[in-house]
Amino acid sequence: MTAPARIDLHTHSSVSDGTDTPAELVARAQAAGLDVVALSDHDTHGGIGEARAAAEQCGLALVPAIELSCEQDGRSVHVLGYGGDPRHPELVAELDRILRGRRDRVPTMVARLNDLGLDLDMDDVAAQAREATSIGRPHVADALVAAGHVPDRSAAFADYLAEGRPAYVGRYAPDVAEGIRLLRDAGAVPVVAHPWGRDSRGVLDAETLAGLFSRGLAGLEVDHVEHDAADRQALRRLGRAHDVLMTGSSDYHGAGKPGNPLGACTTEPRMYARLVEMMADD
Ligand code: AMP
Ligand code: ZN
Ligand code: FE
Ligand code: FE
Repeated sequence: MTAPARIDLHTHSSVSDGTDTPAELVARAQAAGLDVVALSDHDTHGGIGEARAAAEQCGLALVPAIELSCEQDGRSVHVLGYGGDPRHPELVAELDRILRGRRDRVPTMVARLNDLGLDLDMDDVAAQAREATSIGRPHVADALVAAGHVPDRSAAFADYLAEGRPAYVGRYAPDVAEGIRLLRDAGAVPVVAHPWGRDSRGVLDAETLAGLFSRGLAGLEVDHVEHDAADRQALRRLGRAHDVLMTGSSDYHGAGKPGNPLGACTTEPRMYARLVEMMADD
């Protein structure tokens, strides 16, 4: 009997706030014993071509994906979109708008840090963001680490960059229902990422999720390092009641998030088979 496939449906490369290039990420996924990996950078499909070529070389299955930044009641909610058309005009326009919002807030964050007495400039952030087209707070956090102001990314968020902290600056994101509609129109299968994770905890209750399922949300990421056993059990019950996809994934970011190694959580093969069917339907 062959071992069941190991499937990880949520990872980030250096095209957003991960530290591996897409090709490195694919090589590491294979070395970690994965059979299927989805590249789901924040608000960009920019790494998919490189990842797909690397995956073809080594015989790994690559699922093209994106993690779309959305908002619900002013709080950040992330929606994974699987297998959509990266050239869909309306999606391209919305991603441009989100990416512009990501870039435009960085000088404000740097100015706030300077006001707090921390020596940091835009070049320090650019040195961390390198080839990234999707700039995020983790790049600012890494610049703070490199300058010796904080010991690690987590401390940078806790002291300065998390919501409610002095260098936090908001940015544009569409409402989650609108994000789901847009992903579906682009032929993607939308699955809400870490629904009860750190940033969206308390925002997506059972009733809100039920409303989103009726508007096209196809599934929930249940197994994620930010969900404890009770969260997972409750989410699984909800997913079963609505008969939607339930996934498990690492949310790997390379060296940037050492607590999320590749394959930290995985997706059941029967759920993956259902996702593949849904991707083919669109
Ligand atoms: P942004 O995309 O700029 O809003 O930054 C959000 C990203 O930063 C998330 O996707 C995580 O990868 C990361 N992040 C958020 N909060 C924390 C935290 N407290 N510690 C470390 N990383 C975090
Ligand atoms: Zn991230
Ligand atoms: Fe996320
Ligand atoms: Fe993520």
